Amino acid sequence: MSEKKQNPWEMALSQFKKAADVINLSDDLRAVLSVPQREIHVALPVKMDNGKVKVFTGYRVQHNNARGPYKGGIRYHPNVSIEEVKALSMWMTWKTAVLDLPLGGAKGGIICDPKNLSIGENERLTRRYAYAISKFIGPYEDVPAPDVYTTPQHMAWIMDVYSALAGHYEPGVITGKPIESGGSLGRSNSTSRGVAITVAEAAKRMNIKLKDASVAIQGFGNVGSNAAIIMAQEYGMKIVAVSDSKGGIYKKEGLNVGSVLKEKEKSGTVTTLNGVEKISNEEVLTLDVDVLVPAALEEVITEKNASKIKAKIISEGANGPTTPEADEILFKKGSLVIPDILANSGGVTVSYFEWVQDLQRLWWSEEEVNRMLTERMTKSFNDVYDAMKKYKIDMRTAALTLAVKRVSDAVTARGIWP
Ligand code: GLU
Repeated sequence: MSEKKQNPWEMALSQFKKAADVINLSDDLRAVLSVPQREIHVALPVKMDNGKVKVFTGYRVQHNNARGPYKGGIRYHPNVSIEEVKALSMWMTWKTAVLDLPLGGAKGGIICDPKNLSIGENERLTRRYAYAISKFIGPYEDVPAPDVYTTPQHMAWIMDVYSALAGHYEPGVITGKPIESGGSLGRSNSTSRGVAITVAEAAKRMNIKLKDASVAIQGFGNVGSNAAIIMAQEYGMKIVAVSDSKGGIYKKEGLNVGSVLKEKEKSGTVTTLNGVEKISNEEVLTLDVDVLVPAALEEVITEKNASKIKAKIISEGANGPTTPEADEILFKKGSLVIPDILANSGGVTVSYFEWVQDLQRLWWSEEEVNRMLTERMTKSFNDVYDAMKKYKIDMRTAALTLAVKRVSDAVTARGIWP
């Protein structure tokens, strides 16, 4: 993968400025929305399996809650930084607003390498983090969720710590939980389902036939692998390439997604699969395909490779995969970039459904959840697409414009107090 060149927070600010300029946002509102409302830095001492104590660093950044409780995932990764978490928290504010969810934006992260932690270490680290941020989260305050390398199990541990401290069961404090701990049906693949819905809507508007349309997916974690399954099995699309951190695989006639999943489960990587061409992670991005889904990490589509991208539709499964410079190049080329805050918003949308169910202690079927997800995402996609056409701007700016307007209207209505 290409190395990081830009500070992600600078990138988020530059996207925000572009949208703020389109709607002539006042200097006062720009000032309010250009900083997170709260940044929490925590030191997390954990007893490791070898008996020694290791102190990890964790963050929770709460960007804005004008429209509802802060909302956003928690990421475990060696490259987590405060600048990254700040950017991700701002993107969550726009993401919940573009879907018109009554929620704000936040993000959390721990600097760690989850691949080198035992289950016990992972649990102790997670519980310590939950304790450290427990005063700042809550069902009406801040509702975390999974993100890179965190799972429903992590969510259950955090819910357990919070509930123990509160003295009662409080499933509404976090989403993305296992079903038996108050999770929602349909949540585990909702981000990917959302990615697929946006691709299907884009294909409709661009007159591209969905059946047998070719797809390349960078990243084969929760988002990438479920997107491959849904696009292949439910939409009849042809997944020609996928990759993970070890590299990529390609097959012109289409990969058998079931075999790729089995291989990943067995050997921890897709790259050991037989009967396919091995390619690099970088090559996955520039293949001659109809649809590209970057579903790994930030800043992989940059000014260096943007002009080589051939996909007509790019649906951002990951957060922040395209730099502002690359956005300009792709817009001029006529490629449609469905921005992260819309493309991968299926996750937080079903998180919202989970939260509502938890608060009411009332459960919906998977069909009902998927129906509501499809309805919301289809509407948001078409609102953003129409705004893009009307104002002749790129789709990211159109989505941000809509979102920034909603958040700034909420800030204005509530007023600055005291
Ligand atoms: N981490 C996911 C995201 O970036 C989900 C957030 C949530 O469900 O709150 O959108």
